[in-house]
Amino acid sequence: MNTSYRGRFAPSPTGPLHFGSLVAAVGSYLAASIQNGEWYLRIEDLDPPREVPGAADEILRCLDTFGFAWHGKVVYQSQRHAAYHAALEQLQKERLTFPCICTRKVLSGSPIYPGNCRHRQGAMEQPHTTRLRVADKRIQFNDRLQGLQRQNIAKEVGDFIIQRADHLFAYQLAVVVDDAEQGITEVIRGSDLLTVTGRQIYLQQQLQLTTPSYGHLPIVVNPAGDKLSKQTFAQPLNSDQPAPQLWYALQFLGQAPPAALKDDSLSEIWRWAKANWCWHAIPSQPKKTTTLPDQ
Ligand code: GLU
Repeated sequence: MNTSYRGRFAPSPTGPLHFGSLVAAVGSYLAASIQNGEWYLRIEDLDPPREVPGAADEILRCLDTFGFAWHGKVVYQSQRHAAYHAALEQLQKERLTFPCICTRKVLSGSPIYPGNCRHRQGAMEQPHTTRLRVADKRIQFNDRLQGLQRQNIAKEVGDFIIQRADHLFAYQLAVVVDDAEQGITEVIRGSDLLTVTGRQIYLQQQLQLTTPSYGHLPIVVNPAGDKLSKQTFAQPLNSDQPAPQLWYALQFLGQAPPAALKDDSLSEIWRWAKANWCWHAIPSQPKKTTTLPDQ
């Protein structure tokens, strides 16, 4: 038994949890539980304009109702600015950053940053983002569920933003600083974040932080094929009916819970899930015939 396993769930308080969030929470929670590890909760309230008042508390209440038990105090990114600032300063000192004044229009939707401001140095008065100057090298990691991943950030993304023009820290920087601070050994989350993992590993290397293992779960999509999210009007989880929704989350993760278990108690479903968790059964992509719970 590995007792040093540390996992986490890191929802953004942009609205209530939905079935897709439940799947990510269940996957990371069971990964930690079966290894006798610890599971941490982090509220990613990094972006006040996108935050919905009361959503963070509602998320915590909902997780509690569904029977999740987290370790220690909940971490709020809104209280961690000093740590992000220190990381930014470290990168600045090593001349790995530059101020960028390119507007969206200048970049005209180009998926790879063309390097227009790369030559700039030092502080700047006018509004600017701060980008990381990325070297031409390959990042490689073995995802527990999606297999071997390779990415050359310089070629596929370019120098990326670590602080926005409104001074908010970018998610890529905050997540890396927090995963390290919380000693996370494995990140289990939705595969919509697979493509940003290379950037996170690159940043960990620049900040001399340990890289955790990664596993990206299939994401839940609606019948139109869109990821469940607030933008696609995903239904909030129904806290009056946690047991059947947990059952469906396990089924989505390929765990084949017995049909009769659906009407059982929440604690019985969790007990079954912990005793029967099987990584190999998790599909890398959602199955076409996914059934979502009626709520
Ligand atoms: N806060 C992100 C979200 O809610 C998750 C970030 C992560 O797990 O790294 O989508």
